[in-house]
This record gives sequence, C-alpha cells and structure tokens, in this order.
Amino acid sequence: MYFNQKRHQNLKVCQSSLFAIFLFSLFFLPENVSVASVNERTVFQRALVDYQRHLNPRYRKAPRDQTKYIIVHTSESGLQSALKTVSSGKLTYKGNRTFGGHAHYVIARNGVTYRTLDKNYVADHAGLSMWDGQTDISRVSIGIELVGYHYEPLTDHQYRSVKILIKILQNIYGLKDRAVLTHSQVAYGRPNQWFPGNHRGRKRCAKNFERTKAGLGPTWPFDPDVRAGRLTEDKELAVIFYGSPSVMIASRVTTNVISKTNTAWSIAGEDFNSPQTIYQLPGGQTITGNKIESTLGWNRIPPNTIVLLNQQGEPADLRRTGSGTKTGSGPIKIISNGKTAWSFAGRNYNSRSTIYFLPCGRVTDGTRISAWDDLPSQTRLIIGYHGPFTINSSQKANSIAGHKVRDEQTVYYLPNREVYTGNKISDFSMLPRGTLVFLPAL
Ligand SMILES: [Zn+2]
Repeated sequence: MYFNQKRHQNLKVCQSSLFAIFLFSLFFLPENVSVASVNERTVFQRALVDYQRHLNPRYRKAPRDQTKYIIVHTSESGLQSALKTVSSGKLTYKGNRTFGGHAHYVIARNGVTYRTLDKNYVADHAGLSMWDGQTDISRVSIGIELVGYHYEPLTDHQYRSVKILIKILQNIYGLKDRAVLTHSQVAYGRPNQWFPGNHRGRKRCAKNFERTKAGLGPTWPFDPDVRAGRLTEDKELAVIFYGSPSVMIASRVTTNVISKTNTAWSIAGEDFNSPQTIYQLPGGQTITGNKIESTLGWNRIPPNTIVLLNQQGEPADLRRTGSGTKTGSGPIKIISNGKTAWSFAGRNYNSRSTIYFLPCGRVTDGTRISAWDDLPSQTRLIIGYHGPFTINSSQKANSIAGHKVRDEQTVYYLPNREVYTGNKISDFSMLPRGTLVFLPAL
C-alpha cells in the first residue's frame, strides 16, 4: 500500500508540467484583478478540495459560538503527513492519541486548498493558548495550516490562496486584519528549564508568515499578555513580531541547522525533547529528542546538527541518508522524510544550478519543478552545478571534465540512474554512452 502510494507520487512529479499548466490556469489570474475579486473567490471556492470525509469519526464536533480570530500555522511536515495528522490525529509524546480535527483548512505548497473541517465547528488547533487575556483560542478561532516549515519561506502559491481564503473569512465573520495571528503569537507554555513562569515561545509555528504577502496590514504593535504581565516574552519571537521592521524580516526565515544562535529551542520549541524530533549530527548519527539529555546533554549538541521535526516512523530511511556512505557527506544529497530541498540548498532550492535526480529517472533543474510537495523521498540533488554534458562516441569523460575527471566534486549520472562522484569511479572507459556529467559552477 505504502509502496503504491510512492509510485503514484513519482508519477505525479514526472507529469508535473501538465499539472503546472493546470495550476497556472487556476491561480495566475491577470495581475490587475483586485485582491480577491468576486471572480477570484469563485475560482478559489470551486477549486477547494473537500477533505472532510477523512476526519476521524471519533472527533467530537462542537459548534463554535464566537469567531474572533484567524490563526495561521505551519505544518512542520509535508502535505501527506499534514493531511493525515490534521484529519485523523497524531501521537502525542506522552503516548496518547488525538482524534484529528486539528485545522479547518490545509494549504499545500502548490496553493491547492483542502477543507478538513466545516468552519462552523471548533477545531482543536491552538492548544495551550492566550490572547489579550482570553485563553483556549481554539474555541474562538479558525485554524489554517500552511504546509511547510517555520524556518523555510512559504510559497507564492500559498500566499495567493491564503490571501483569498482570509478575505472570504474576514467578510463572513467581520474580522479586521489584526484578528489574523500566527500560532506562535498566541501559544504559550508552562514553566520549563528556560522560563520560571508561563511564557511565549512554546510554538514557532508560522513565524515566517509574511502578512503583506497575504494582503494583511500590521499585527498588534505589542503582545497584550506580555505587556499585562500574564506571560514572559520569548525574545526571539518578540523581535520577529513586535521589533523594528527590518529586523523582523531578517530573522523570520532561518534554518533547521543548529548554530550558536539557532538553538534546539529556537528550532523545535516545545518539541525539543520529543521522541519525534530527530537530531542528525554532522557525522550522520541520529538521536531522538528524548535521548539527548542522557546521551549528549543539551549544551553539547554540535553545530551543523540538523533538527528534523515530526518524525513518525521511517527512521531506517534516515539512517541510510545520514550515515556518510557513498552519498552522505559529498555533493550528492538525498531528500528523505523531513529533509527538504530547502534543508540542503537554502534559497537556491529552485535555482537553475540545483539539479534534481528523481527516482523515476527524470533529471531536471530547480527552475523546472513546481510540484514541490510531490518531490518523492530518495530524490537526489546537487547544488551549484552546470551541465549536463553527455558522454557519447565522440565525447569522453576526459574531454568533458579535463583535469577534474576524477574530482570528488564532479558528478556522473549513469543511464541506470546511479549517481557517482569522480573519485568513486575506477575505470572511466567503462562509463556508458548517455552518462551525464555535471561540473561545479564557478
Ligand atoms: Zn501551529
């Protein structure tokens, strides 16, 4: 079953150009159409995917009496995992199961929007939360989940969709722009090793949400609960939401890589010690969040450790990727559960010099991929390359790569879909015709 799903995914990416044209017709309305015109809303509502039949039957639907806020989240996972968690629930790290109903809408990276719960019901999306003295924000709000991670930029397709969706909801419930908040703004945590009292920072969710791109005016100029002394501020989030505009933008998109300033807490928030958070050390070793204290200690996580959130299952996959064998530390990177193109390539994920080798055999550069959600696990990529140069009867590896032919930075893609670096090939005369050669861009 799982295998079939994967095959289906691969197929989808390989047909992505057709899919892209379809999306183009749905979302690229002429620029001069005013924000969320009647026409645009109609197109949006027609394209809305009704996903409510997947809601866990054990979720108890209760009508919502009041709607004061719209809360924006990032899923911290890919599309399939987000839809599954939102609809059917998840394991909490105390070992309990939730029954889904975790958002009203889910918006994929390609802009396709799923209705996961009728907006008239309470969704269980905000957890321990407070805004302006009011607690349990789920009871008075709509929850929108954007597929992606709080440390990566959201896509233009997502902003286009969320902008229209928010406009529609604002009209229905009579909400001002300031009623739209992120989960990281309203969530709070109980005292922990960093905070003696109740505090912000439990969630980093949607800290990368750029309001102007969603057609929204500014948020509150301050955090009302911090100002009133009900909560302690989280310094990093305070800068992002209530600091000076230039600082706000600079610190919004970060990475999931540990550094002096980007700590486990900054990346994972309350999930820092969860068994579903995996720390992948530079040498490839992986440790789950609940084991860091006993094996390493929180102060001894090495820089360049990658933090992977929401890792439910598939640890074998991860180990294979990180173990530093033929592809671990060299230029060839592998996309696997929780590690995205962005984790490896940063802002260059969609650039011409980032080359992707899809499991189906398609080789393409970042400018020609649009279905980022459907990028299959085990897709390999190289960053900062030009090519391909094809080996044929008149052009051998030597004449293509010159003195770099055996270099560990020179990449060879064989017709049988294997990828090697120059230092791993012993006999270049054995490279078949049709082998593609990629050279580092200068
Ligand atoms: Zn959230």
